[in-house]
Amino acid sequence: MTGRTDNDVDVEVLVIGAGVVGIYALYRALDAGFTARTLEAGDGVGGVWYFNRYPQARFDSESYTYAYIFSKDLFDEWRWTEEFATQPEIESYLNFVVDRFDLREHIHTGQRVTSAEYDEPANVWTVTTARGDVVRARWIISATGGLSVPHYPEIDGLDDFDGLAYHTGDWPHTPVDFTGKRVAIIGNGPSGAQLLPAIVDIVASVDLYQRTPTWTTPLNNAPLTDERHQWLSENWDTVVTTLTTSPSGFLHAPAGKFSTADTAEQRQAFFETIWRAPGFGKLTMNYYDMTTNRELNLEFCEFLAGKIRGIVEDPVTAERLIPTDHLFGAKRPPFVANYFESFNKPAASLISLRETPIVRVDATGIETTETHRDYDIIVYATGFDFGTGALTRMGVQGRAGLDLSKDWEDGPADFGGFSAHRLPNFFFPGGPHGAGGGNYPRYSQDQVDWILSTLIHAREHGFDVFEPTQDHQDAWMSMIETLAPKSIFSAEHSHYYGANVQGKPRKFLLNPGGRPKLHEMLGEMSSTENYTGAFGKVVNDVHA
Ligand code: NAP
Repeated sequence: MTGRTDNDVDVEVLVIGAGVVGIYALYRALDAGFTARTLEAGDGVGGVWYFNRYPQARFDSESYTYAYIFSKDLFDEWRWTEEFATQPEIESYLNFVVDRFDLREHIHTGQRVTSAEYDEPANVWTVTTARGDVVRARWIISATGGLSVPHYPEIDGLDDFDGLAYHTGDWPHTPVDFTGKRVAIIGNGPSGAQLLPAIVDIVASVDLYQRTPTWTTPLNNAPLTDERHQWLSENWDTVVTTLTTSPSGFLHAPAGKFSTADTAEQRQAFFETIWRAPGFGKLTMNYYDMTTNRELNLEFCEFLAGKIRGIVEDPVTAERLIPTDHLFGAKRPPFVANYFESFNKPAASLISLRETPIVRVDATGIETTETHRDYDIIVYATGFDFGTGALTRMGVQGRAGLDLSKDWEDGPADFGGFSAHRLPNFFFPGGPHGAGGGNYPRYSQDQVDWILSTLIHAREHGFDVFEPTQDHQDAWMSMIETLAPKSIFSAEHSHYYGANVQGKPRKFLLNPGGRPKLHEMLGEMSSTENYTGAFGKVVNDVHA
């Protein structure tokens, strides 16, 4: 036995991060009777919904399907105003949840974790924050998010700019006044695409610097009607079942057909319906073979290109906005209202970085190979160090000399997208391979639920160590590598492959098997002697 006693830990469960996943993990840990605490880097709760506060940042999953579904009372007590809510409403909701379930006293904000070290003989994690505070815990749930480390582009002179510069993923708390300003937005993913229409009517000018055109489609937002809210409440059990069991985690009704069921004319009519579908409905309500049938996808892309040409008045701009290097869905498509329409406004211009790359940023603006433009504000909507960014910056030291940032230098290796061999008692729901391409909180909820049932199992059976074996990890990673080329998000030049960060290995960072594969492999893990093999009463048992 080790020399450990219960007094060695400050809390049994330490959650890192108070975003959507971390709040749920804290709620579940306390509800299960564990002592628990959360350390959050931000000065408030919300995670990405605390930091991404740029104008018109909003859900592109329906508010009530992205929100928590563990409590019907919570659903009834909170009233979303829109099908797709904006950031201030989302932040209010998450604060409401924190207070509604008495979580706030357990959340320590302004506490960025700088190291997390496993003390093997004591079987205790020692976590240190930037302020120098130290917390010892038996179990760590690092809900630090896949999209929480803003990535600035590798462009010369970023620090030379004398004007105002912001990243969409680290937006200031005091509102930014765009009125009458000359603005540059670099990046046209979901963040840049949401920001452009939000400011185009008030700026003096806004230039959107685009590297890769995107298949952006309308969000098709609407106020959340009383009738809809009531329907959701009255059909709550069915709603929860659908959100909990469907591969995508949405309520969208599938098309129910393959494209071969329709004539070419019927397909065009169907595409019109899809164009009007809400948010991710363009993927989830589309023909079953949309992402597997290349000819069909090309036909849909041609339909979308026609829409762009129909909306954007300047034909040269329209052509620049049409993707030519990836199919619909191969990169995560933005769902945004009035994106293409913005380019018809006199203030907006599109600058194609494919034709005229940026040379440098300087004191007054941006120089491209074509010209120099002056700006008051530059916005970097250039995305995040996806999947591994937060975990590899947190000084995680596991068992047997494992230094996570070094171990993952060639890409992450894990089990279930939330645990890893040589990281005993350390979980990271929503980490690399921790999203499956569907509705993120639904997928992460599955992971947190499984983690909590594992902790409860350990408590009930007197185990104090959980660690996936090398075999568990190898089986999971083999699934990732086999299915990655077949994933819907197959474009290798996307952040799902780490391609947006210079020097990052090109490794697929989602779970290409999605929710069904996650459920299948977790089921296998917990229903056979596999599960037992991952537990130990003392640290040496499990590693023998
Ligand atoms: P993103 O999708 O990664 O887009 C980053 C953009 O910046 C891309 O257009 C990229 O071009 C461009 N870029 C990156 N480095 C560049 C460089 N060095 N020079 C020029 N351009 C550069 O980031 P995001 O828009 O912040 O979205 C990230 C994720 O956050 C999304 O996938 C989504 O999951 C989530 N999100 C969701 C919502 C929502 O609606 N709920 C809103 C915002 C974000 P390339 O494409 O050529 O790399």
